[in-house]
Amino acid sequence: MSHANLPDPIAADPAGADPTGASPAREPEVWDSLIVGGGPAGLTAAIYLARFHRRALVVDKGDGRMQLIPVSHNHAGYPDGVAGGALLERMRDQARQYGATLRRGEVAGLRPDGDGFVADTDAGPVRARTVLLATGVVNHRPPIDDDAHMDAVSRGLLRYCPICDAFEQTGKRIGILGGDTHGLAEALFLRSYSRDIVLLGLASVTLTPDEQAQADAAGIRVVTVPVSSFDFTDEVRLTLDDGSDVIVDTLYAGLGSTTRNDLGRALGTALCDNQCFLTDDQQRTNVPGIYAAGDAVEGLDQISYAMGTAARAAVAIHNDLRDKDGQTLD
Ligand SMILES: Cc1cc2nc3c(=O)[nH]c(=O)nc-3n(C[C@H](O)[C@H](O)[C@H](O)COP(=O)(O)OP(=O)(O)OC[C@H]3O[C@@H](n4cnc5c(N)ncnc54)[C@H](O)[C@@H]3O)c2cc1C
Repeated sequence: MSHANLPDPIAADPAGADPTGASPAREPEVWDSLIVGGGPAGLTAAIYLARFHRRALVVDKGDGRMQLIPVSHNHAGYPDGVAGGALLERMRDQARQYGATLRRGEVAGLRPDGDGFVADTDAGPVRARTVLLATGVVNHRPPIDDDAHMDAVSRGLLRYCPICDAFEQTGKRIGILGGDTHGLAEALFLRSYSRDIVLLGLASVTLTPDEQAQADAAGIRVVTVPVSSFDFTDEVRLTLDDGSDVIVDTLYAGLGSTTRNDLGRALGTALCDNQCFLTDDQQRTNVPGIYAAGDAVEGLDQISYAMGTAARAAVAIHNDLRDKDGQTLD
C-alpha cells in the first residue's frame, strides 16, 4: 500500500490544522471531526485530535454538568479541589493551543452527507467526516427557579452526585429527593456516610414492603408526605404538604436524568434503555462515522470517565480516518 495520501507533517495545511500548533488560517470545507459538546468529554477529544493534526471543531452550547460543579474533590491531580468552570477553561486553552477550533452554539440537526455528515449550527451548515457526540445528560431538577437552583448548587445545599461529593457530607443530615426505588438505592448508598438519612418525594413516597424493610434495617427515615416547597436560604428547609418542615444540611436530587441523544437518535444510533448511546469498545456507535463519549454513553457519570471515553474515541476517529485514507498497515 502506498502512503501517498499521508499529510506532510512539516508543511502547514492551509485549509486546516497547522502542525506548528497555530490556529487554522481559515476554516476547512470539511472538518475531520465535529465534536458536539464542549464538556470534559468533548474538550479531551479536541485536545487529542488537534494533537493528531486533525481539523477538529467543537460546537458547544455551554450548559453542561461540569459547569455546575462548585468544587470537585475527587478528580485526580487536584488535592485541594478544582471548580468545574476553572477546569473547563484550562481544557479550552489547551485545545486551542494545539489548533482545535471552539465555537459557542448549538448543533440543531445532523444528517448524512456523501462520505460524512452535515450539521445545522447557528453559524450555518458544518460538514465533517466524523462526528463525536459528547452531549452529556440533563439532571431532572426540583421545581425551583433557575437562580435559586444555581445558588443552592453553588453553596452545596443541593447536590446531584453522591459518588462525587458525599465524602464531604460525612456525618451530616442528608436528604434524598426521589421517593422511588432509585431514591432508596441512593439513600442506601449514602448511608455509609451518615446515620441521619431521610428519603422524601415530590409525590407521596410508596415503597414495596421489601424496600421499606430495607430502609428500616438501614435506619433510613422515609417521609411519605410529599414535599411542597424548598427553602435554601441557610440550611435546607423542606416544607411538606401537611405544613410540617424537614430540615437537612444538604439535599441530593435523585430524580433521574435525560440523555441528550436527539442528534444520534435521528440518525438511528442504538441506545441503552432508550437513553444512553451504545458503543463498541472504541466508542463507535452502530452508525459508521458517529462516535459517542462522556455521560451520554452508558457507564459512570464522572469527569474521569468522560475524559477516558473521549480519549478512546479520538484515537478511534484518527485511526478510522487513517484507515479510510490508506494510511494504515495492510
Ligand atoms: C453538581 C454536580 C457536581 C458534580 N461533581 C463531580 C465531581 O466532583 N467529580 C466528577 O467526576 N464528576 C462530577 N459531576 C459529574 C460531571 O460533571 C459529569 O460526569 C461530566 O461533566 C460529564 O462530561 P460530559 O462532557 O459528558 O458532559 P457535560 O459536562 O454535561 O457537557 C456536555 C456539553 O454538551 C453541550 N451540548 C449538548 N447538546 C448540544 C448540542 N446539540 N449542540 C451544542 N452543544 C451541546 C452542553 O451544552 C454541554 O456543554 C458533577 C455533576 C454535577 C451536576
